[in-house]
Amino acid sequence: MNIALMAHDSKKELMVHFCVAYCGILSRHSLCATGTTGRLVSEATGLTINSFLSGPQGGDQQIASRVQCDEIDLLLMFRDPINAKPGEPNDMNLLRLCDVHNVPVATNIATAEALIHALDRGDLDWREYVRGSGNMIF
Ligand code: PGA
Repeated sequence: MNIALMAHDSKKELMVHFCVAYCGILSRHSLCATGTTGRLVSEATGLTINSFLSGPQGGDQQIASRVQCDEIDLLLMFRDPINAKPGEPNDMNLLRLCDVHNVPVATNIATAEALIHALDRGDLDWREYVRGSGNMIF
């Protein structure tokens, strides 16, 4: 599965802890991330991560374009719900695209925990068919 990681500044440490805890599961999948998140996670875990540009420089939109092509099967996007940030419209667009393409998304660690176990059980294997079907929308 192709997993995309992204964390706002106040949530980056949480993302790193999450990825350290679930390194074993994550290592069996293909990972990409916005620039800073990817660097921090790969330094802490040793995981190979395809890091895009940093979010504010367009990394979030690089992930969005892959979602549009059904190349992302799971998005873990730890959001800061308290402090507004300039990239908010892009984040909303990314979440919208995930809804359009039925990509499972976690915007907080509680949902991320549930989804990572679901991933490990094989509950998200249906994504393989979506990817193979050329942009099938339910
Ligand atoms: P970053 O991007 O991982 O490059 O910091 C995330 C964000 O847009 O906050």
